[in-house]
Amino acid sequence: MSEAQAAETVWEPSPNDLESFWMPFTPNRDFKQAPRLISRAKDMHYYAADGRAIMDGTAGLWCSNAGHCRGPIVEAIQRQAAELDFAPNFQFGHPKAFELASRLTTLAPGDLNYAFFCNSGSEAADTALKIALAYHNVTGAGSRTRLIGRERGYHGVGFGGISVGGIAPNRKFFGTALAGADHLRHTYDREHQAYSRGEPEWGAHLADDLERLVALHDASTIAAVIVEPMAGSTGVLAPPRGYLKRLREICDRHGILLVFDEVITAFGRLGHAFAAERYGVLPDIITFAKGVTGGTIPLGGVLVRDHIYQAFMNGPEHAIELFHGYTYTGHPVAAAAGVATLDLYRDEGLFERARALEEMWADAAHALRGEPHVADIRTIGLVAGIDLEPVEGKPGQRGYQAMKTAFHDHDTMIRITADTIALSPPLIIGEDQIGQLFDATRRVLRVLD
Ligand code: PLP
Repeated sequence: MSEAQAAETVWEPSPNDLESFWMPFTPNRDFKQAPRLISRAKDMHYYAADGRAIMDGTAGLWCSNAGHCRGPIVEAIQRQAAELDFAPNFQFGHPKAFELASRLTTLAPGDLNYAFFCNSGSEAADTALKIALAYHNVTGAGSRTRLIGRERGYHGVGFGGISVGGIAPNRKFFGTALAGADHLRHTYDREHQAYSRGEPEWGAHLADDLERLVALHDASTIAAVIVEPMAGSTGVLAPPRGYLKRLREICDRHGILLVFDEVITAFGRLGHAFAAERYGVLPDIITFAKGVTGGTIPLGGVLVRDHIYQAFMNGPEHAIELFHGYTYTGHPVAAAAGVATLDLYRDEGLFERARALEEMWADAAHALRGEPHVADIRTIGLVAGIDLEPVEGKPGQRGYQAMKTAFHDHDTMIRITADTIALSPPLIIGEDQIGQLFDATRRVLRVLD
């Protein structure tokens, strides 16, 4: 903008202009022709700009585990914003960040006793990877610089996250910064696992793929392995029974750190505070985001075990131990939202509730077997992935159509990745609402081309 133009800047809002916002992970041109605008939310529902109640089948983006606009969280945010809007956590501190860290580490399994905060899942993944690399440096194993992810993995959109991520469109334009990472093979095999409920019986041996990478690169060059306990963004892939335990054993054998990216799986999605508990496997680092504040205020972070934190607590006491952090690390309003959200999860027993609903949820989801276009259904916790047969030559089109039809014609928000529908409602969902959600999905499938 030139100075002359700037002098004539128009400050009036132009609410009907959809053009300026370059929307993320969205076909912008199509959206702007027939927008799906949400204007408010309460509990299990969004409300569209035209007033329709839209059933939230996705907890927003896997965030709103306690439902929307819940009183105790809203009030905590309002109180905190009025009392302390911002304070730095570099060299200073404020009580809420410490309180949230204590609450999280108490909730976490084993000796995951330290929390580092950031603002998103992407930052959490990058923070975890940086801590892993730095850990090897401070413990005298600086040759361990290689990071291992998994095909079909999603760890956000930072350069670290896309390096270890395994979804081609997220990587293909961003080439050279991704060198050095390698990938385990993914864990999905339709022939052996189709229509699985919970963890598929077949596939624990796929963890042995890490031995292949150790043989290729040598363990002395590998810093960490990062996996999602359940891969969500790639289309809901539950870990095969025994897979994560085996991965842990191989990491231990070779001195490789194990990172669980729990950005989706933490806070009840699989019926526990962390998926690590469900699987009885203790990683060295856990990432979290999303559900920690129920999506109300951006907040992410990592939890690390004692040996990781303690390895940094050397050197002169006036010196910074880890050169990493964000201006908004442990933001007071986000921290207050986090504490209030954890209170609500506890007071309403929402993790237990997810566990109790899992069977009924799986029954409702698997009842869609045989509906038009359905190629596979997988359920785990309060998550369902429904693979649709792609339209020939047009991958992703059928899934996209399903999402649009659900919103416009069946008052339901569903999530899609390519031709997979992923359902993951708030954990407050009622049994009748589970029925409604799958009925709407069934009706959508029946009208799709
Ligand atoms: N890691 C995992 C496992 C995720 O599912 C996501 C987002 O869905 C991310 C990281 C990135 O989180 P964000 O979008 O908050 O950066």
